[in-house]
Amino acid sequence: MLLKDKTALVTGGAKGIGFAIAQTFVSHGAKVVVADIDGDQAREAAEKLGGKPTALAVTCDVTDQDAVESAVRAATDEFGSLDVMVNNAGITRDATMRKMTLEDFESVLDVHLKGAWLGTKAAAAVMREQGSGSIVNISSISGKVGMIGQTNYSAAKAGIVGLTKASAKELAYKGVRVNAVQPGLIRTDMTAALREDVWQAKLAEIPMQRAGEPEEVANVVLFLASEMSSYMTGCVLEITGGRHI
Ligand code: NAP
Repeated sequence: MLLKDKTALVTGGAKGIGFAIAQTFVSHGAKVVVADIDGDQAREAAEKLGGKPTALAVTCDVTDQDAVESAVRAATDEFGSLDVMVNNAGITRDATMRKMTLEDFESVLDVHLKGAWLGTKAAAAVMREQGSGSIVNISSISGKVGMIGQTNYSAAKAGIVGLTKASAKELAYKGVRVNAVQPGLIRTDMTAALREDVWQAKLAEIPMQRAGEPEEVANVVLFLASEMSSYMTGCVLEITGGRHI
């Protein structure tokens, strides 16, 4: 029970990696706010997590500052604190730069980078008053190595690393830690959309010769969220089966 009596908010928590994180947190004693742009899916997810008093669904577009602030308020109003914030919501709009529209660039930057910044800012406001808290940002291996067809996504995910390190330095003296993970190829709806030849090419780069499961990301996020990582801040952990080491 690594998160007993803690409250966590997971953006994009209705499915995929976010839902696996929420599930893992609940199994370790946390109360979880599932904040997702799709309110119906968020409510379904919260029900699967046991409903009240364990899980609360909030409709939240992470690009909207008011929505992010009210999701954080929902956590403190309903459960009394915010101890863990996971900035996980994400989208892809892949295309080579030659074909990518400015709109596709901006929407990916908005959801990932602006969304993580807004989430960090809103959570930090509560956590610095509490004198404790852990923020975990979901970057990607794309932010380390850069992927063809992902100038938008790679830039956003690299930006999240900078955001993580700078906010870790700003918040450390208040007892608030900020860390990031960089998953590789993980089996979710996001990667189910990949063409078979692209999937196989990615698979061929992985020394462990398989894709990861959402739960394998969730376990690392649990470690960063909990006191198990009490002396770690500003760190970026890769969850890739050895890809791009
Ligand atoms: P996913 O299955 O598509 O889940 C993403 C969730 O975020 C969905 O519920 C989605 O809602 C929600 N979302 C999208 N835009 C949002 C917004 N503006 N505000 C709030 N919620 C929003 O994707 P995933 O694979 O679990 O990805 C989760 C995170 O891990 C992302 O940050 C992704 O970049 C990162 N990641 C994934 C992989 C991978 O291989 N899967 C690898 C590295 C990093 P809708 O479904 O309604 O859009």
